[in-house]
Amino acid sequence: MTPKLIFDAHLDLAWNALDFNRDLRLKMERIRHRELGGPEKCSGRGTVCFPEMRRGNVGLCVATQLARHVPYFGRAGDLGRLTGYASPEQAWASTQGQLAWYREMEGCGELVQIRDRTQLEARLASWLGAAPAGPAPRPIGYVLSLENADSIVSMAHLEKAYASGLRAIGPVHYGPGVYGHGTFDEGPLTPRGHELLKEMERLGIILDATHLCDESFWDAMRRFSGPVWASHSNCRVLANWNRQFDDDQIRELIRRGAVLGMAFDAVMMVHGWEWGRSRPQDFGLKIGKIVEHIDHICQLAGNARHVGIGSDLDGGFGTEQTPLDLDSIADLASLGDLLAARGYKPDEIDGITHGNFVNFLRAAWR
Ligand SMILES: [Zn+2]
Repeated sequence: MTPKLIFDAHLDLAWNALDFNRDLRLKMERIRHRELGGPEKCSGRGTVCFPEMRRGNVGLCVATQLARHVPYFGRAGDLGRLTGYASPEQAWASTQGQLAWYREMEGCGELVQIRDRTQLEARLASWLGAAPAGPAPRPIGYVLSLENADSIVSMAHLEKAYASGLRAIGPVHYGPGVYGHGTFDEGPLTPRGHELLKEMERLGIILDATHLCDESFWDAMRRFSGPVWASHSNCRVLANWNRQFDDDQIRELIRRGAVLGMAFDAVMMVHGWEWGRSRPQDFGLKIGKIVEHIDHICQLAGNARHVGIGSDLDGGFGTEQTPLDLDSIADLASLGDLLAARGYKPDEIDGITHGNFVNFLRAAWR
């Protein structure tokens, strides 16, 4: 059974629109066709656009701004298009361009920004209610998030960002950042990272624990007492490297009421994926693999309230790095049946597909 609604806690929509030149209003085939022979490994293989999101009932999401500051090189090695700007000021300007794109998409009725509980309930009612009559597409609700905080030049910029609707921040990304240490790296948050957490707590901005390396993770847990989620993080016990959380980290997140969004990037789903070399066929990788991650978290929690979806499906990869039975984001809908087959009850499936993140936001925005 197709879930009534999917809440996807991690999509890099604006980055795809501007850095990959994808007009997400177009049908998937048209976006792919435009990119055939393109330079990126994911060229012509994208899986996310608004029509596919609607087809899979992905009506609510967390959408990012993403721009890094990398002082010592321009591109982040293996990570392809992840440009690192020479200064935080340039990164800030890039995120403001991304914000301008979100505003344009609001202007043409594709997206609606969600900043508070009233707006959340309105979007929820729109998607759980009957589909609108007429040709206009049902707007997708998005909560604005920032993936790595390098672009936050000063705490005055943070206030400005909050006023623009920014409601969640993951302080770091890959490698070292201005505010701490991310995936593939080690080390605690920087003194500026400590200051950032304090200001986030004052403003009520959600801390996204995803991408924090172990030391920065525990540093952040000690210092931050506001709401925490992990927008796109799987289980290390099933995909063994520091991009995923180990069981102690997952237990800490559960203790704090967090929800972990399950990502569908192959490299985060299985042990031993080699970037650029492995193929989904080598692992017989199917969407169902994610149910093992979901189940692991539910077993640690003793309930099904701390896990959701944070697909990351437009995170710089396409079908070369997704499960074999996932051609577009609409295929996330198969999770309903997969979870039912694993013994999950209808209300638990509703929670995993959207309710857990919705309830998290209700509590955070009380
Ligand atoms: Zn990410």
